[in-house]
Amino acid sequence: MAATLWGRQRLEKTNGVLDLESSGNSREPMSARSEAGMAERRASGDPSSLGEIRGFAFDLDGTIWAGPTLLPGAAELVANLRGAGLGVVFASNQSRHGSALLARRLTAMGIDADDSDVVAAFDLVGDEILRRLGPLRVMPLGTSDLADLLESAGHKVLSIDEWAGAQAVVVGNDPLFDFGRLRAASRAVAAGAAFFAVNMDARFPVAEDQFDPGCGALAEAIAVASGVRPISIGKPNRPLFEVTIARLGHSAAEAAMVGDNLPSDIAGGRAAGMLTIWLDDRNNVPMPPEADLKVGSLKELHQLWLAQRRAHSPSSHLSGEPG
Ligand SMILES: [Mg+2]
Repeated sequence: MAATLWGRQRLEKTNGVLDLESSGNSREPMSARSEAGMAERRASGDPSSLGEIRGFAFDLDGTIWAGPTLLPGAAELVANLRGAGLGVVFASNQSRHGSALLARRLTAMGIDADDSDVVAAFDLVGDEILRRLGPLRVMPLGTSDLADLLESAGHKVLSIDEWAGAQAVVVGNDPLFDFGRLRAASRAVAAGAAFFAVNMDARFPVAEDQFDPGCGALAEAIAVASGVRPISIGKPNRPLFEVTIARLGHSAAEAAMVGDNLPSDIAGGRAAGMLTIWLDDRNNVPMPPEADLKVGSLKELHQLWLAQRRAHSPSSHLSGEPG
């Protein structure tokens, strides 16, 4: 099983262009409805509200799949949730590619999905910059897909050699990251360019028990050299959760976030007002305060959900057992 990721996310300083603390977290206070829903759930005791959830958001890496392998019970759980008429969205911090590729990958692995079933941090960064600052001259560090995305969002993409003209630097997972790219990005940010990271995950799993350095590891290097903290778009920050909840089509209080990463999936889901379900496959850590539920596998979650649904809808005709 791939190692649990522990992406840190602290937005502490500004770069003179944006108030980073407020940019990610204070656009709108959490809705009263979300806060009430969360308080009500916590007061009612766990896991009694699982059966009332109308939309489930699943993290991908380490939750639905590990590298090329679908995790046990994932396809059966998703099929049964959909069969019961519930919403399912996949919410990923992916920083190399967008939702189209992730949806194709899900489908190939046995979970039918189209672009609209996947919310990827990667897809949000271009529009987030546009919304905050308008169209900019942006220097991306990432895949060619990232440059294409920024251009299609209305930004002018600069090469690494053009760093002096950059109004923003965007960091995704960059397989070509090297000293020259670190230098260009650091100089641009130190000179006043806005600094965005798709996510701040330290690692991402590429196979069982193996990882690549994550987008956050690269962004941290630039942050150290430039002296500026980045604005992160992905979990645990609000932008990705807001889009995910809207895509599910229910209120935050009627939605659940399922993930293996406490600081991003669970802390972010809780802040957004969702029921939070931590997938702890090691099953050797006490229940953390951020999570409403802790399960050792998706099969266990499937069994809990079936039991809770039956308790709430005794006349329903739910069928299917976890595979
Ligand atoms: Mg994960």
